[in-house]
Amino acid sequence: MAVSLAISSLNATPQTREASLTTSWCAERLVGVYEAATPTLAIAVTATRHAEVVETHVRVQGKFRCACSRCAEPVELDVDTEFDHHFVGPGQLDAGDPLDADSAGLDDDPDVSEHDGAKIELDELCIEHVILALPDVPLCDDDCKGLCPRCAINRNHESCSCDLREERSSPWAKLAELRVQKD
Ligand SMILES: [Zn+2]
Ligand SMILES: [Zn+2]
Repeated sequence: MAVSLAISSLNATPQTREASLTTSWCAERLVGVYEAATPTLAIAVTATRHAEVVETHVRVQGKFRCACSRCAEPVELDVDTEFDHHFVGPGQLDAGDPLDADSAGLDDDPDVSEHDGAKIELDELCIEHVILALPDVPLCDDDCKGLCPRCAINRNHESCSCDLREERSSPWAKLAELRVQKD
């Protein structure tokens, strides 16, 4: 399940490998909001190597399930994300200034890291990019009308006659206003 490539197998000719990563493995990183809808993420890595520098282009595809943030209906989200990542040889990232590795320019670049001289590992990067590709506020539809705050019907399917102006003057709304002021 690990996505790793042996450095010695790579050369200047781009090579594409396909791999998969079990989605359950990353589910706990999705803080309970998302759950995997397919058992694996499909990964395609294209890699080239020039001396110790390995350049990769990675595509990750998967499917996740979650509840809409407004109406709580189940939502299925396709993730299809691509990224580039370069690996340099061991010790090359902070070669510029060994006393102050953190200030070495390349260290700050999220798209470059070191390989261990034997292989490159892409699992963590794939997971990170999938998480970045998932929306912070998942919606079943951009125009989702959500639930009525009063009677909780799903306003995408039904309409109600609740007077929401009155809702705003309810004790709960007052409390909410107080909270906002406090913050
Ligand atoms: Zn919705
Ligand atoms: Zn209502």
